[in-house]
Amino acid sequence: MGEMAEESKTRISHWADQVVKDVIDRVEQDEFLKEMVDKHGYIVYDEKTPSGKIHIGAGRGWIIHDVIAKAMRDQGLNAKFILSSDDIDPFDKMNSDLDPSYEKYLGVPFRDMPSPVDGYKSFADYYFTQCTDKFEEFGIEAEFESTGEQYANGAFNETIKIALDNADKIKEIYYRLYGDTIGSKRLPFNPICEKCGKIGTTIATEWDSEREIIKYKCMEDLVPWAKGCGYEGERSPYDGGGKFPWKVEWATKWPTKKVICEYAGKDHFTKGGSRTIAIAIANEVFNFPPPYPSTKFATGKGYEFFTVGGKKMSTSKGRGIGFVDSTQYAPAKMLRYMLVRTRPHAVIDFDPYNGNDLMLLYDRFDRTERIYYGEEKCDENTYLNSRRIYELSSIGKLWERMPPQAPLSHLAVVAQISPDLDNALEMLKASGHIEAPDDEEKEYIKDRLDFAYRWVNEFAPDQYKFTLRETPTKMSISDSERKALNELVNALESDIDARSLHDKIYEIAKGNGMKPSEFFSLCYKILIDREKGPRLASFLIMIKEQAVRLLKN
Ligand SMILES: [Zn+2]
Repeated sequence: MGEMAEESKTRISHWADQVVKDVIDRVEQDEFLKEMVDKHGYIVYDEKTPSGKIHIGAGRGWIIHDVIAKAMRDQGLNAKFILSSDDIDPFDKMNSDLDPSYEKYLGVPFRDMPSPVDGYKSFADYYFTQCTDKFEEFGIEAEFESTGEQYANGAFNETIKIALDNADKIKEIYYRLYGDTIGSKRLPFNPICEKCGKIGTTIATEWDSEREIIKYKCMEDLVPWAKGCGYEGERSPYDGGGKFPWKVEWATKWPTKKVICEYAGKDHFTKGGSRTIAIAIANEVFNFPPPYPSTKFATGKGYEFFTVGGKKMSTSKGRGIGFVDSTQYAPAKMLRYMLVRTRPHAVIDFDPYNGNDLMLLYDRFDRTERIYYGEEKCDENTYLNSRRIYELSSIGKLWERMPPQAPLSHLAVVAQISPDLDNALEMLKASGHIEAPDDEEKEYIKDRLDFAYRWVNEFAPDQYKFTLRETPTKMSISDSERKALNELVNALESDIDARSLHDKIYEIAKGNGMKPSEFFSLCYKILIDREKGPRLASFLIMIKEQAVRLLKN
């Protein structure tokens, strides 16, 4: 760090550091916020309903929030990222993965439904844990919460009282934004029916502020997706007696959890959308400044869509891929890097099936890495930005030396010649990509080789696939071609490196009256029965003995 760290303090090159600066400026101008962060720290918050397999798009939010919290800690702030599972939301839609017996739970909170897989506390627990179990792999550091548990332990009691005492104000806000709708008429609270356990089917009909009791009805026809039991009763709204409707809940979480920053997908930030109303309720009912990127007066911008798998995946599955499956398409490390380097407001549609997307991603990552370790020169802005991207996208601690680099396309060649790690390492030594790897480096290369193998089998364009011939083939070869091949064999048998051999191949072609491209094609035909193939010089060196055998005949 040293000198550069001093400089990067005065000059902001990464979007997360800009967010941190904006938040700090805001706190400095607001006594209330100053007191809040002194007492509770900088709370970066996100939430997700575990209604089924969680889409990769939500993962973008998790990484954005993790990166912001890290950038805050880098500035010496006491910051943490809290992710809450909105597990008290009602189950409102069957999906084809579920057993039909789940239909009876429509209307019930996700946390009160059985897990579709053994070993989890509930339906909500299963789908949420599926994702959070992968957080370490993605380098996401978060504290987890259950929103249902927060209701149950009374964290929302105070805001419930305020919201219900100010129900008319909330109804007015709904009316102002949406006109005469259900929200402008109903009490802003959904109790859990004590008879049937459903939360999606109830309406609160009366709030007795003195006794702190709500009267409610469990309706048969409130929503088309679930049928209530008709029970009418009264209960305390506190300690898990129910929940706020979503938009009100969002506004109550901010003062309850002392949130200073919470992004969400851009679909929440549309004009008059859920963020707009949550801001109005936070301001007018709770007198709480809405978290960054919103202000009292403006919603700000949410983060953009993130899809993995491109059109092919989103159309075949209908709903895109889950966060938990995303690492089948690129290593977590590369996905994290992609999200850290891209501003939240830019769309990302990453398609591993699209020719070079993955190769390009690896190349960009490696370049960032070389810049970070001072192995590649660039202008100062690129330098500062690349350093920050590398620091913020790193998983675990940074290495003191630069990890070994080898392009995906090259590793794919190695993986196709030799699935055996030790042999592969020898080839990478021969091609000059590694020298004497220690165990950590071997492990690193192995991970890359594993993915390269996957890439070639599942995603790579045909031009990157080949099979090395086992035995020489009968081909008609002219005298000058024969002579050129012999010269190549001689060169290969001398102790030559890839770069010199590359020059030598051109020399040999010329010396025998051939165009270099003709000579290349001839070699590929002999070696892999194709017109084109991997970079010839380093390929020949990696398969030296086999190459000599094939070329001699
Ligand atoms: Zn009921």
